[in-house]
Amino acid sequence: MNEEAPMCCCGKAATIRTSWTDSNPGRRFSMCAAKVRETKKGFKGCQFWAWFDPAMCERSKAVIPGLLKSRNKLEKSVAKARQREKLKQKLMHEDMKERLVVLQKWHVLSYLASLFAHALEAWIFALGCLDHQLEWMCQME
Ligand SMILES: [Zn+2]
Repeated sequence: MNEEAPMCCCGKAATIRTSWTDSNPGRRFSMCAAKVRETKKGFKGCQFWAWFDPAMCERSKAVIPGLLKSRNKLEKSVAKARQREKLKQKLMHEDMKERLVVLQKWHVLSYLASLFAHALEAWIFALGCLDHQLEWMCQME
């Protein structure tokens, strides 16, 4: 099978593209490369256009569009699943951040509580010393 692109009327190798219409799914055609590139900027190529692959059999025309549709459907559901997973990850991340903030608050609170406990211990110790001193002074008298 000759896979070489034909020459267009400009004398250059034509571009080979693939049709995805229901009547010619996956059938390649060739057209002027300059026309393909210049469609948006204004026509500069020639009118050359020809099928590259031979005509498709009726069975292919019947089966391939169905396969394409089911593939597109699958791709859509994969994309949706990916989006759901991304959202789930985002929500989990936000939840973790909130939990971290709560943990940090608890950490600060427990630190303050331990400072308070130490101050209280020191205060009790000081009161004890004072008590002993008072007792001692009373005994002196
Ligand atoms: Zn051309």
